[in-house]
Amino acid sequence: MGKLAFIIVDGMGDLPIPVLNKKTPLEYAYKPNVSMLLKNAAYAFPSVLGKLAPQSDAGVLADLGYDPIKFSTGRGWFECMGLGMNPGEGDLSVRVNFGQVNGGNLVSVRTEMSKEELFTLEKEINSKVRLPVKFEFKSGESYRGGLILRAEKERFSAYVSNNEPGYTAKFYKNGKKLSFAVPAKNTRILPVKAIRKEGKRTAELLNLFIRKAVEVMITSEVYKTRKKNGLPLPNYLFLRDAAVSDPKLQDINDKYGKKWAAVVGMPLEKGIALATGMKLVNTGELPVLSEDLSSKADGAINALRSFDCVYLHIKQTDSASHLGKYAEKYAVIEAIDRLIIGKLAKELDVSGGDTLVLTCDHGTSSQLKRHINSNIPVLIINKKFGQNKEFGENSCKKHHLQKIRKATDIMPFIMKL
Ligand SMILES: [Zn+2]
Repeated sequence: MGKLAFIIVDGMGDLPIPVLNKKTPLEYAYKPNVSMLLKNAAYAFPSVLGKLAPQSDAGVLADLGYDPIKFSTGRGWFECMGLGMNPGEGDLSVRVNFGQVNGGNLVSVRTEMSKEELFTLEKEINSKVRLPVKFEFKSGESYRGGLILRAEKERFSAYVSNNEPGYTAKFYKNGKKLSFAVPAKNTRILPVKAIRKEGKRTAELLNLFIRKAVEVMITSEVYKTRKKNGLPLPNYLFLRDAAVSDPKLQDINDKYGKKWAAVVGMPLEKGIALATGMKLVNTGELPVLSEDLSSKADGAINALRSFDCVYLHIKQTDSASHLGKYAEKYAVIEAIDRLIIGKLAKELDVSGGDTLVLTCDHGTSSQLKRHINSNIPVLIINKKFGQNKEFGENSCKKHHLQKIRKATDIMPFIMKL
């Protein structure tokens, strides 16, 4: 096997959309650079987690060949790791969203803010909130953040619910934990609840943190200025996927006997890359799409010169889907074709043994504005193949490789090429 560029386009899979001639955004997008590679194409259409709609952590882990049900201790661990917070064994790591409520009802779980605004709120929360345990709060991209409660005197438990209504935690018999996207049933805001008795104290601490942090947020200048300017307000925090232990993933370099690098911008994906022992290169997330994609393509090309495999993650497709912007979604896919596939195709020697894989972590419906349990489209370009069909959900379903039934089958299959 030669070099591998493994591209995960977040939430790229979708459902047919009537105004796109019943095509999905991936099928509708004009992809001349992908088309040029199709003479060496094979397709797969695996399931990620069966009937359940996965989050990105489960999808990315599965795509990289780690069964999320065997390993995941909760997404919060990866989020905090990716934010550089160094979660320790026993610490409680949680993913946080800045959101907005009105009279106890949900307005939005995503109050998008600038880096400066996020950083100001982060600083104020860390300096003004007092809890009976040591904690650290860190902001991430746009509306995201991470919280760690440090285990000094207390033991924490991951058996607590998410107060973000779109995601339900599921606990497995082996002690592992995952969250799934669910249609929000009502808009009433609920506190974090203990799922088992042992989670009672942790739930209390998290609710206390939310209450105190919200007090700080709504008296902040950031809040007042946004209110004056009629902008969405950060007046609530949504917590999810609390984790208390290291998922202990096998080092990917040992697992496959290849040197891996990651070109990723989001904290979750950084966390997964770090937890699997990949070398992080080019970790920025630039606000202008074309600049972001170009810089990621350059990062991947550079990394391929000294690493065997590069995992490249692109976020913007999922963000567009959550906002219901299907036209933006196919435009992002077209930009990926132009700015990433076009460049990588020149750099990789697919007729000489290099491999390019284009897939996603889960489907996100841009009509339903949430993750779905659909199978995921996978395109594998390697000299061993030659199916030459347009790349999309339908063709992947029709022409899928028998050996790839689950997302966790993708990587073992590729590593044998
Ligand atoms: Zn995702």
